[in-house]
Amino acid sequence: MKLNIVCIPGDGIGPEIVTEAKKVLKKIEAVYGHEMQFEDILMGGASIDVHGVPLTDEAIATAKAADAVLMGSIGGNTQTSPWYKLEPSKRPEAGLLKIRKALNLFANLRPAVLYEELAAACPLKQEISEKGFDMMIMRELTGGLYFGERKTVEENGELKAVDTLTYSESEIRRIAIKGFEIAMKRRKKVTSVDKANVLDSSRLWRKVVEEVAKDYPEVTLEHMLVDNCAMQLVKDPGQFDVILTENMFGDILSDEASMVTGSIGMLSSASLNDTKFGLYEPSGGSAPDIAGKGIANPIATILSAAMMLRYTFDLDEEASAIEKAVKKVLEDGYRTIDIMPQDEAGKQKVTQVGTKEMGDLICERI
Ligand code: NAD
Repeated sequence: MKLNIVCIPGDGIGPEIVTEAKKVLKKIEAVYGHEMQFEDILMGGASIDVHGVPLTDEAIATAKAADAVLMGSIGGNTQTSPWYKLEPSKRPEAGLLKIRKALNLFANLRPAVLYEELAAACPLKQEISEKGFDMMIMRELTGGLYFGERKTVEENGELKAVDTLTYSESEIRRIAIKGFEIAMKRRKKVTSVDKANVLDSSRLWRKVVEEVAKDYPEVTLEHMLVDNCAMQLVKDPGQFDVILTENMFGDILSDEASMVTGSIGMLSSASLNDTKFGLYEPSGGSAPDIAGKGIANPIATILSAAMMLRYTFDLDEEASAIEKAVKKVLEDGYRTIDIMPQDEAGKQKVTQVGTKEMGDLICERI
């Protein structure tokens, strides 16, 4: 099969982790006899430094022409990097918002899985973590508060800031359909999260989700208020299968779910549109604190590449081969620094490796 993949190495650890994911994809290409074409584009700080903007129209056109995009991460240290002295629309993150909008990536998928081998890293009480969990957070990505009108005005001698949260029925319906379809391939449960006791946008969200649910009678639908969901994620994460929610709630809850796994460097993500096209990236950021040191965990990016093979190219066997190789590497006791056990006894049982070595170990097991 011919796969036309655009890569966005980005900033910070981005280039390091994307290099390893490409290496793993090239191993898949060789083992399974595919033909992969890779092209890099600049985004974020890397693009600001060269073009003065976080994403050029040419880069968007290149991404649009591809089958899928594999991204590292963008952004720098928000306190010290000169990129954050620019106005918000010119900062690295503006590139990410622009590409999501341009490619119509309205559905963000973030799995949060507790690996048996890493259960000790889970910050929850043992009686909760030993039950394990495997959930998929489906977040609406192009509507809501982050894309609504905003302004700061002076009123009665003081500044007043306004952000608006808007959702239309069609925006809610298309993400709800994706959520139910993903649930059909999993444990057939959707928890729709909103703040319907306060917000009109949430009341509309709930109404449309209930309408969509009628087409999926096998899926159990429950509604949960966002504040309760934030609590339930630490109290009983095993109850969740697919969490379906709007943009800002999903942003916060998916970070919480990541932390509950204890290892942000392990978590992949995908942003999809109506077609098979997707942008795949790790859940974490550009980790400027460890950039260039060769110690970043590439597994989230490698697992994002596996998601790309499954969701964009329908190459389930190849995707599973990557996931199994990752699991085998963990079973064999290899860890990057972020997933090293914290206690001395635990450390003696595993071997610490760097970014490149981890990529090599995964390739060897495919
Ligand atoms: P971050 O995720 O970059 O880092 C948080 C912590 O997790 C750091 O200690 C970091 O070292 C660690 N970490 C993250 N990924 C890791 C990996 N693969 N291996 C080992 N450790 C890892 O979050 P932050 O510090 O809040 O943000 C840094 C920059 O990243 C900011 O500019 C932010 O805007 C940007 N960011 C980008 C994206 C994206 O590109 N999609 C997402 C989130 C944050």
